[in-house]
Amino acid sequence: MEYLDNLNKLEFSNLDIELRNYAKENDVPIIQDEGLHFLRQVIMLKNARNILEVGTAIGYSAIQMAKLGANVDTIEINEESYKIALENVKKANLSDKITIYNEDALLIDISKLKKYDLIFIDAAKAQYINFFNKFKVLLNDKGVIVTDNLLFHGLVLETEFKSRNLRQLVNKIRNYNEWLLEQDDFDTTIYNIGDGLALSIKK
Ligand code: SAH
Ligand code: MG
Repeated sequence: MEYLDNLNKLEFSNLDIELRNYAKENDVPIIQDEGLHFLRQVIMLKNARNILEVGTAIGYSAIQMAKLGANVDTIEINEESYKIALENVKKANLSDKITIYNEDALLIDISKLKKYDLIFIDAAKAQYINFFNKFKVLLNDKGVIVTDNLLFHGLVLETEFKSRNLRQLVNKIRNYNEWLLEQDDFDTTIYNIGDGLALSIKK
């Protein structure tokens, strides 16, 4: 909402602005401002010290989270994105706070990861259930999982799609949303914030 967008303010460094422009020009789906407001406040409320992110892209969200003082481990499958993210993290002077793994999150050996207060799932939408199941064992007591893009630009509300692939992907997301709300070991609410964010609190 424009009214609130103008009232709620995030502070961006020159590097942040550079990353935001790069993302726009190169169609990198970085977290929307509304989602970032939410994520930041969840981190502050939880006093999250250790965060796992699935899906680094160019490092934008990892940098925003690490700026709050948290340690961020983040996983990126794409080598080019990984290299760009590494460079951006260095420019942000956050190399001691952010560890990037250039791996497929579905294949990564979790024994090299830590325990986390927050897990941010933001990678391949079709794999969300697999990501959730794989990484939930790394959550601390009362830890939380935030999942992004659950409204998929509003496409979850549509009935007709440009392609079979797109319809299948949308169905995967709908399926994840329903599945997520059925998980009895988590208290989950899906919010109409940014591109649709779920907050799942481990019971
Ligand atoms: N979190 C970022 C945006 C991530 S975009 C931000 O808000 O700034 C999603 C990223 O997930 C892409 O860079 C994509 O390459 C990566 N990805 C997709 N499948 C993956 C997988 N299986 N393992 C790790 N990363 C994956
Ligand atoms: Mg996202």
